[in-house]
Amino acid sequence: MSPVNVRVPAKINLCLGVGPVRDDGYHPLATVYQAVDLHDEVRATGRDDDQITVSVHSEMDVRSEISVVPDGDDNIAVKAARLLRERTGISSGVDLSIRKVIPVAGGMAGGSADAAAALVACNEVWGTGLSRPALEVLAAQLGSDVPFLLHGGNAVGGGRGETVSPVLARGSYHWVFAMAHEGLSTRAVFAEFDRLNTGAEVPEPVVPDALLAALRAGDAEALGAALSNDLTEAAFSLRPELEDTLSIGIEAGALGAILSGSGPTALFLASDEAHSLDIAFALSSAAGCADVVQSRGPVPGARVG
Ligand code: ATP
Repeated sequence: MSPVNVRVPAKINLCLGVGPVRDDGYHPLATVYQAVDLHDEVRATGRDDDQITVSVHSEMDVRSEISVVPDGDDNIAVKAARLLRERTGISSGVDLSIRKVIPVAGGMAGGSADAAAALVACNEVWGTGLSRPALEVLAAQLGSDVPFLLHGGNAVGGGRGETVSPVLARGSYHWVFAMAHEGLSTRAVFAEFDRLNTGAEVPEPVVPDALLAALRAGDAEALGAALSNDLTEAAFSLRPELEDTLSIGIEAGALGAILSGSGPTALFLASDEAHSLDIAFALSSAAGCADVVQSRGPVPGARVG
């Protein structure tokens, strides 16, 4: 049985509207996702027995905090493989090998990306033949961001992020990502959001019209001005130095600057390659910045190859 290799992108949220906490503990979200050119790889090799194993590798130990990625049943890629096996009633095993590039706990959905990749890779290596829509149903059970990482491109996310619908969009965008020295727990940032909003009326979230118009027009300047993230205050409250990182990028002329999801990765929109290099250079000496990466988006979702 030959191994199957799947590449899967990271996501950013061009806007992240967060509503009042629901009875099930989740917050309703109104977001526009974009998949970006920063990829993890998941290789699946079929086994003769029914074991499911995982190993995690990285060439960039600092930014990927590889030690906090579980190498057993808690790894979300293993959960994805188990769910696929359960739903298709097969008993095959697999060795999963993850090459991590997406920062861990960076607000770029690296774990969800690995889950999406594991679904696609195991579906191929086991010959279970589930369609994309069928895989999307499993993806939604694994986590809010997983369906989008199968999808890729640009998409509007609703519900708790798991309902993905296409968005009319043009253009390819130049991004700069500033990775922090240490990850930030998504759960902790949402808890801080709730604490900061205690007693306040949190409105139902909406995707700003200006952002959709900017994407339709492929207008980077308008997109930069329309970027937004309701978790900013909560993330700043837990990591005050992130405010300095955003300021450095803005001073370097970024068209827009926000935190990626729940942070701590900061993202900056540039007008072209040369501009993106200028912003990356300005950020590279920032104290709170462990690594700076230039990237492009949108890119496709999890794909064999
Ligand atoms: P999101 O943007 O979806 O809120 P994140 O990018 O901030 O998430 P992840 O890198 O997805 O955070 O990881 C969150 C936690 O999930 C990690 O701290 C780790 O303990 C756990 N985890 C489980 N499986 C994986 C995996 N394959 N890769 C990374 N983290 C994993």
